[in-house]
Amino acid sequence: MNRVEDPQWQPQTRAIRVGHHPTNEGEHGEPIFTTSSFQFESAEQAAARFSGAEPGNIYARFTNPTTKVFEDRLAALEGGESCVATGSGMAAILSTFMALCSAGDEVVVARQVFGTTSVLFNKYLAKFGLKVKWVDLTDWSQWEAAITDLTRWVFVESPSNPLTEVVDIARLAELAHKHGAGLIVDNCFCTPILQQPLALGADIVIHSATKFLDGQGRAIGGAVVGNKKLVGEEVRGFLRTCGPTMSPFNAWIFAKGLETLALRMKAHCAHASAVADFLAAHPQVKRVYFPGLSNHPQADIIARQQSGPGAIVSFEVEGGQAAAWRVINATQMISITANLGDAKTTITHPATTTHGRLTPEQRKESGIHDGLVRLAIGLEDPIDIIRDLKRGLDRE
Ligand SMILES: *Cc1c(COP(=O)(O)O)cnc(C)c1O
Repeated sequence: MNRVEDPQWQPQTRAIRVGHHPTNEGEHGEPIFTTSSFQFESAEQAAARFSGAEPGNIYARFTNPTTKVFEDRLAALEGGESCVATGSGMAAILSTFMALCSAGDEVVVARQVFGTTSVLFNKYLAKFGLKVKWVDLTDWSQWEAAITDLTRWVFVESPSNPLTEVVDIARLAELAHKHGAGLIVDNCFCTPILQQPLALGADIVIHSATKFLDGQGRAIGGAVVGNKKLVGEEVRGFLRTCGPTMSPFNAWIFAKGLETLALRMKAHCAHASAVADFLAAHPQVKRVYFPGLSNHPQADIIARQQSGPGAIVSFEVEGGQAAAWRVINATQMISITANLGDAKTTITHPATTTHGRLTPEQRKESGIHDGLVRLAIGLEDPIDIIRDLKRGLDRE
């Protein structure tokens, strides 16, 4: 019953077929192994497992068969040799830097990363002597100035949140490698369906599985994908000792989520495009930020490295914060929450939520205007999403 995994499988097939090895019960669906430890045939086998002479399960802090289904599937989709699942997206970033850096190492990070990621670098990793240089994602001269032979790792998210700015991943990987550094990409917004950073030259991909990989807002999880040495040994070793492990139940949710990821991403992109077109034509909307619009300032890079625009649409309304809040408060269906990557469309006011900790000057510098509204478009019919947005926009 162990079907052969064909390396020629297309992504959609890999997302459904990779990683499932039925037990002697012949189950067709992936089982959830709720066990903390694994037993051995003999004292000899236990010794061989612990010493590493014989591969296999020992304890679920390190490996679990259900978690392995998710890891193998995501690795196959990202085109990586190894994947390590973690308890959250933040645990994936923490584990990567704890495993691959030492005190005094220098890393270069795009200013436009997820807010909590900035806090992780500035407050926690800095305590252990990691030196961070911040640069603007879209300013190539800043990358060239910041990345030197002292740089160990470069970290970016592309597209960024909430303004959907991008960086040329292949060019950045080349620059990093020229200086002996590696490139880490948080691929949360695109997923491997729309963008494959490893194929573009990146060394490691990070995921918050909480978002599109689950796709229905049910569980918290993360993952690190890359080669066998860095991820399969170093990051796995950190997990084994330090313990930010994914639960098998959550792994099962994410493994099943991957089966429908391509279909969902296609629908997310189509619905987001419809909403972006509606907003771009609306007289109360000053500007729309969406990778699918032909007037996106970096449309050429997007065309090269993304096969779809994604689901994040931000827009600036005429009338500042009062007008933005009016649009948000007038919605009757769209959920007011900062989460994203859900079947349910969400709406948020970045200036007073996700970016509320910045000073007004920092917000201005980052382009987070008071009239900015961020949407993460879900899987409802776009007709209804647009109708819900019109309630607050048409009232002017
Ligand atoms: C949500 C998010 C994270 C953190 O993931 P959690 O699963 O919430 O810990 C990291 N990066 C990006 C881009 C995110 O959107």
